[in-house]
Amino acid sequence: MADTDSVVSDVKLFIERLKKEMPEVFGGAGENAETEAGKVLYEGKLYPAQVHLTLDQEEGVDFTEEVFNVYLQTPQADPNTLTENWLRAKAADVLKEKTAEWAAKLGVEYNNIVIKDQQTLWASCSAKKNINYTYRIIKMPTAIRDYLIVHELAHLVHMNHGEEYWQLVGQYCPDYKAHRRWLNDNRGAVFAPLDLQYTPEKTENETVQTAPAPQNGQTNA
Ligand SMILES: [Zn+2]
Repeated sequence: MADTDSVVSDVKLFIERLKKEMPEVFGGAGENAETEAGKVLYEGKLYPAQVHLTLDQEEGVDFTEEVFNVYLQTPQADPNTLTENWLRAKAADVLKEKTAEWAAKLGVEYNNIVIKDQQTLWASCSAKKNINYTYRIIKMPTAIRDYLIVHELAHLVHMNHGEEYWQLVGQYCPDYKAHRRWLNDNRGAVFAPLDLQYTPEKTENETVQTAPAPQNGQTNA
């Protein structure tokens, strides 16, 4: 029994150490997951979200560079799902475009890019030269995003985390050590679920209802 316990705690310690040593490997919200109600984390900044119920606009998300406008056509529609879908589509576009750019700089060729919703990994690279990313990378500052891309592409040259591997990463990302610290410290924010909801806007009728009764009002009492 004691042996099993100590093995389990060894494994736990090992994983905790690995999380610190290889922050780009492990995602997961951890203890410090903080959800900012009514806000959307995008490219390293928290933006306010406004949820509108309207038949005039197609259901979906419009980002103005300052605010996320989320348009619902029924009160039952989920603004969180709509916004997550927008982030996923954006992540696919941006990660494919930026990976192609960085691959040209590094002079490497990859096979395929797949965008996933991985709960435990930010990104990975297979021996078949396929690269996987979690769409949540779109929530990170662009410098961190670029570091993760370079991290994976550098594995096409060195399939390990040896000295030569880090030298190659450092050549294209001189600040990679700070980026690794950022990943370690901000895992919670990047994995926190969205918390958006529709709050009915005040209509003219509601304004009248909450106004004080007129002084000279006649009552039937
Ligand atoms: Zn790696």
